[in-house]
Amino acid sequence: MVAPDVLVVGGGPAGSAAAYWLADAGHDVTLVEKKTYPRDKTCGDGLTPRSIYQLQQMGFDFDRPTFHKVTGLRSYAGDLMLEMAWPDHPRFPNWGGVMRRRDLDAQVADLVRGQGVTVLEGVAASPIVEGDAVSAVELTRDGEVERIEPRFVVVADGSLSRFGRALGTNRRKDYPLGMALRTYYESPRSDDGFLESQLDIRDETGAQMPGYGWVFPLGDGTVNVGVGLLSTFSRWKHVNTSRMLDTYVRTAPDHWKLDEDAPLAKPMGGKLTMGLSVGPLAGPNWVVSGDAAGVINPWNGEGIAYAYETGRIAARHLHDALAADDASLLTRYPQELHDTYGLYYRMARIFVRAIGKPRVMWALTHAGLRSRPLMEWVLKVMANLLDDEDRGTGELAYEMLERLVRIGPDA
Ligand SMILES: Cc1cc2nc3c(=O)[nH]c(=O)nc-3n(C[C@H](O)[C@H](O)[C@H](O)COP(=O)(O)OP(=O)(O)OC[C@H]3O[C@@H](n4cnc5c(N)ncnc54)[C@H](O)[C@@H]3O)c2cc1C
Repeated sequence: MVAPDVLVVGGGPAGSAAAYWLADAGHDVTLVEKKTYPRDKTCGDGLTPRSIYQLQQMGFDFDRPTFHKVTGLRSYAGDLMLEMAWPDHPRFPNWGGVMRRRDLDAQVADLVRGQGVTVLEGVAASPIVEGDAVSAVELTRDGEVERIEPRFVVVADGSLSRFGRALGTNRRKDYPLGMALRTYYESPRSDDGFLESQLDIRDETGAQMPGYGWVFPLGDGTVNVGVGLLSTFSRWKHVNTSRMLDTYVRTAPDHWKLDEDAPLAKPMGGKLTMGLSVGPLAGPNWVVSGDAAGVINPWNGEGIAYAYETGRIAARHLHDALAADDASLLTRYPQELHDTYGLYYRMARIFVRAIGKPRVMWALTHAGLRSRPLMEWVLKVMANLLDDEDRGTGELAYEMLERLVRIGPDA
């Protein structure tokens, strides 16, 4: 195979967006995905307006039966419930969606191919490293190994990022990490128009468990049901997420009519690398995007939008480096990620540390859900949908933290 200008490792949202936008700028790109589409990816399948926006930009056709539109978020804490529509925003749509990742990623891969990218499925990549640089990449398909020397590499191989680790990337252990587990159930309310979250999970004795739950309707007679928790929660390492999921399914609102004995799939879990926790984000001839770069939003555990966004930002910097024939321009990529998300994610890290204390979490959710204006503001901050273009999201997030601190107990 002739080595491309850019080799993209991983065909999830980050790699797909990087490949799509590089090809859009006229570059010669090959994307390698170790699995074959349609491939499953453990996920809640929830798409917020930020994800929808990125998909719209790539020309995604939402008019298909595998896509289910949702117009807002319903949150529960104990007996309190609040339904909120996605806010109006000058750029992002006021709707979201739910779509199985096996369908979403395969359909986005078709768009990537349509842009002229060579997409190789069933091909795993591993780097040959010389100093800090990728000197070559070994591509393995059915035991056959081929070595190529691309000019640049985009590392988009997901949260475990073996490719990235071989290049010396590391996740900061002092930053929060998420864990989540999901499965699918049949539900007569599968065509519900809201994403639903449960901010407190209680076992049968009424004792609070350190995590949250969700039911995301797929519109096809099934729902995605999952639980998550953060490393900032007390005793998180001792939490049995399978037990937590069972408990949540048993105690989830009746309207879903979940049959706890009939999950449609084996529960699968994964790590959520968040808050810009991974570095370095670029080397002499490579950049890292998506979960491999630890860019999940700690405010809400959303990673798909940030994978699309960081893949696209990476493409822009690679384009600059290729156009100017100057690889040193790649150092601007980490800078842009820190400028874009840095302060907002720093505030999120403070927030998730605070809610790691059950007392604080309880007080905030119960006081919060009693105030619609406050929660509408919280939704905007947590989903990164602030419309005040003149002020930094970090600054507004800080203001939100202040408001929450005022209603909460001493954190
Ligand atoms: C249980 C759970 C629920 C979640 N729910 C949501 C949600 O509802 N909404 C949301 O926005 N986010 C959610 N997330 C986060 C979201 O799934 C991720 O942030 C998102 O998938 C990141 O995209 P990515 O492209 O960086 O990585 P991935 O989607 O993981 O894609 C990486 C790809 O790289 C491939 N790959 C890996 N190694 C190699 C290699 N060596 N060679 C070639 N290919 C390779 C993999 O097969 C994979 O296809 C959830 C995560 C979990 C674990």
